[in-house]
Amino acid sequence: MKNIGINGYGTIGKRVADAVSAQDDMKIVGVTKRTPDFEAKSAVENGYDLYISAPEKESQFEEAGIEISGTADELFEKLDLVVDCTPGGIGAQNKTDIYEKIGLKAIFEGGEDHDAIGSSFNAEANYESNLGKDYVRVVSCNTTGLCRTLKPINDIAGIKKVRAVMVRRGADPNDVKKGPINSIVPTTEVPSHHGPDVQTIIDDINVMTMALLVPTTLMHQHNIMVELEDNITTDDVLDAFEKAHRVLPVQKSLKLGSTAELMEYAKDLGRSRGDMYEIPVWQESVNVENGELYYMQAVHQESDVVPENVDAIRAMLELEEDGEKSILKTNKAMGIL
Ligand code: NAD
Repeated sequence: MKNIGINGYGTIGKRVADAVSAQDDMKIVGVTKRTPDFEAKSAVENGYDLYISAPEKESQFEEAGIEISGTADELFEKLDLVVDCTPGGIGAQNKTDIYEKIGLKAIFEGGEDHDAIGSSFNAEANYESNLGKDYVRVVSCNTTGLCRTLKPINDIAGIKKVRAVMVRRGADPNDVKKGPINSIVPTTEVPSHHGPDVQTIIDDINVMTMALLVPTTLMHQHNIMVELEDNITTDDVLDAFEKAHRVLPVQKSLKLGSTAELMEYAKDLGRSRGDMYEIPVWQESVNVENGELYYMQAVHQESDVVPENVDAIRAMLELEEDGEKSILKTNKAMGIL
């Protein structure tokens, strides 16, 4: 049983903590918080030992009535691996300032740059190349979504070129500080960072992405066009999506034609926090015409990367050499369809 810690018990950190706790080969020894807020309080209420990453704030935690078990540095000493879920940019700083100095293996999230960490991870696409690594970045929610569906297409037909338009949620549901509230905001940097990010996972893939922000908090939505090497049919693609791990073909005709309905479906499945770990692909949108594939998918930004973190732990600690076996084990423990 490997000892895992979470540095930054926020949107991603709390979900990874629960996903790790559901496995039988790893356990959460503790989680960290900087601020004595409701997430710190719920961490303790959920049974996690809470350590503080800002020791000078100890009295603030005491005043808020939140029990702490020590400092983050004390937690790190007890761990085989830490999952750093702090806001973007802080993880890379923690890598050089803390983890490398004490020789602690660490996973980082999509807010960090590939170059700062050295290795990027998606379970289906490159599990084996991350075996035994000390520092690994689980790519962002959008990049994870693209890798999940592009990998099976590349496997069955070969990809000449991908063009994708990413419609991104403006903020997470609990975020009261970000927008847009009433605007569409194009990312004028072309390609958006998502295409180059996919290339850190699937070598030599020709992919070009454009992105825009819209006033919604539920999910991202992707519109993807793929020039294929081989001659395949729409049914071949649907079959590949059906067989792929963590991809969920859904039907508009079942009233699942929007991100709102998909999120309601996740709640109906009884998912913790109403999460949708799979990438839903609208079946009706899948079309192959003149050697080009078109499809549309959605991404639940708060949760699709969560099972990837569990698999990354298994690869880095060499608990399982076969990526497929790790994916199936994680899926079973988390109830992934
Ligand atoms: P968040 O703000 O919800 O949570 C971050 C947590 O880290 C908070 O609990 C905060 O108190 C704590 N924290 C802040 N500064 C800290 C420090 N110096 N040391 C220790 N803890 C600190 O952020 P999030 O949305 O969970 O994002 C975390 C990472 O996951 C980022 O890299 C982000 O890009 C990535 N990510 C986020 C999403 C998403 O949609 N939220 C999706 C995929 C990946």
